[in-house]
This record gives sequence, structure tokens and C-alpha cells, in this order.
Amino acid sequence: MEATRNDPVLYLVLPCYNEEEVLPETTKRLTEKLYALINAGAVSRESRILFVDDGSKDGTWRLISEYSGAIPFVDGVKLAHNRGHQNALLAGLMTAMPLCDCAISMDADLQDDVDAVNRFLEKYKEGCDVVYGVRNKRENDTFFKRTTAEGFYRVMRLLGVEVVFNHADYRLMSRRALEGLSEYGEVNLFLRGIVPLIGFRSDYVYYDRAERFAGESKYPLKKMLSFALDGITSFSVKPLKLISNLGILISALSVFGLLYALISYFCGAAVAGWTAIVCSIWLLGGLQMLCLGVVGGYVGKIYSEVKRRPRYLIETHLKPGKREE
Ligand code: UDP
Ligand code: MG
Repeated sequence: MEATRNDPVLYLVLPCYNEEEVLPETTKRLTEKLYALINAGAVSRESRILFVDDGSKDGTWRLISEYSGAIPFVDGVKLAHNRGHQNALLAGLMTAMPLCDCAISMDADLQDDVDAVNRFLEKYKEGCDVVYGVRNKRENDTFFKRTTAEGFYRVMRLLGVEVVFNHADYRLMSRRALEGLSEYGEVNLFLRGIVPLIGFRSDYVYYDRAERFAGESKYPLKKMLSFALDGITSFSVKPLKLISNLGILISALSVFGLLYALISYFCGAAVAGWTAIVCSIWLLGGLQMLCLGVVGGYVGKIYSEVKRRPRYLIETHLKPGKREE
């Protein structure tokens, strides 16, 4: 095991959008936590809290700059404009990557239990490269949020996307997992879908999610729905395959329609011209759907090609050797 596993440089990465109401408390709690960890020798003195200001319109950046001046291990980056939670998080993780041994991403509103950090670190020291924070229960959520959120995870699974149930973006990633992540060049970011694709040894830490400490949610229903849709369309080509299957089904059904129309014709029950029209509608409809599915198949291929996702990541190379200069 690498020596740094026991004395890692830890970066806590927090995206912040208009969070001036919670930042004083968040900084206080995280600073205490980091102090305690450093004093206990659990993490290196080089560890940092990295706030990412996602183009906030309130005093968020002013606060971050103030704290960074007053507290040695508070750092901050400011995005040029609001790019959304996932992009802000990625910006923070990529800033931390060359500087840290591991990074934990969490929300700025203290919904993610800060004390779980110790358990994340334990798992990291045991050799995990990715540790997922999983919510114990959802009793703090409204019935609506709970059912829609759980329904979303089920639909994702059904569509063949590997997501961790009840895991949001509270997670630890080692440096090499971050390097793996950096190879994913896609623009429509859905980190929860990408991280399981990276691989490496992973584990779970269970925690209770609290209420937002102060301020309002920055994820209204509209943003949540478009995020969910992004998750599905960025990871699954199954909806395209559904079109082909539907085409095959309708073409097959059209044969029965044809039989029915012919029987009606021979029994003299059909109006003249009806048989030909009904048969052609069914058959052509089915064939069109099938063709659309075939085109969809190619579109699906283009879609995965343009993402240029890494085809593999190497975890261990036993005898890498050294080239003589
Ligand atoms: N956030 C962000 N950019 C945005 C929206 C949200 O960086 O455009 C941050 C926000 O400051 C918080 C985290 O993402 O730290 C999660 O947002 P929020 O707590 O509002 O979402 P909820 O917990 O209600 O789903
Ligand atoms: Mg929140």
C-alpha cells in the first residue's frame, strides 16, 4: 500500500451557489473537523477545504475570500459564471486532483453529515479508491421528493445504468480515481453515473441526511427533472432499442390485422377499399417504426463514440520496468 494512504492530503470540495447564509457555520464545522483530523494524525497538514463559488450573486465569494485569508487551510476557486452543481463540483475535484491524495465532495448546506468523514477515511486507508455516502432513510424528505427520487433510481436501474441507490454526491475519491474521472470528457455531466464506471475498489458509508442548515434549496423541481433526464439520456441507449422492439411488435401485429381484414373481406363484411387501406396502414406503420429503430441504433453508436469515454483504466501493473536513459 502506498505510504500516503496513512497520512493523506485530504481535500474537502464544496460547490456553493448563493450560500452566504450557511457558509459561516459550514466553515466553522469543517474547520473544526479538519483540525481534529490533523491533530489526530489522520490526515496531512497539507489538507484543505476547497470552496467552489459557482457564479453566486450574493456575498458567497466575499465570505470565501475572507475565510481563506484568515484560515490557512481554507482555499477557494471562483467560476466565471453559474454552471450548475455538477460542473462546479467537477471544477473543484479537478483543481484538487494534482494537490491531494483523496478528495471528499459534499454539499455546502450541511445536509451531509460531517462526522461521516472519519469513516470515509477509514475505508480509504483500507485501500478503497471510491467511497460512496449512502443515505440511511429518507424520512426528512417530503413524500413527493422521496417517491420521485426512489422512482428515479429504479428507472435508472431498469434502463441498465449502474447507479448507487440513495447516493447523491457525498463521496470520497482517491487521486487515481480522480485521474480516471478526468478522462471522461463528456459535457452533459452526471457524476453519479460516471463514478461507478471508473471502477477500482469501492465501498459504502451510511449516514443520516439532515435538513438544509439555512437558506433555500438551489434545486427546484424543474432543475431536478432536467437533471434526471440528463442522467437517463447520458447513460442509456435503451429508449432507442425500445423503438426497434415496438416496430417489430407492430409489424407482427399487422399480420394478424391482415388476416382479420382478409377474413372480413371474404365474408363480405368489409366496405370496398377498407381492407387494402387497413393492411397498408398497419404494415407501413410497423415498418417505419422498425426503420426508425435501425436508424436509432446508429445514432446510439454515434452518441457513444462522440463521448470519447476511456475504454479502460489500468489499476495495477506488476512489472512496469524503467527505461534506461
Ligand atoms: N449548487 C451549485 N450550483 C447550482 C446549484 C447548486 O453549486 O447551480 C450547490 C449548492 O450550493 C449546494 C449543492 O450544490 O452546495 C446542492 O444544492 P442544494 O442543497 O440546493 O440541493 P438539494 O440538497 O436541495 O437537492
Ligand atoms: Mg441541499
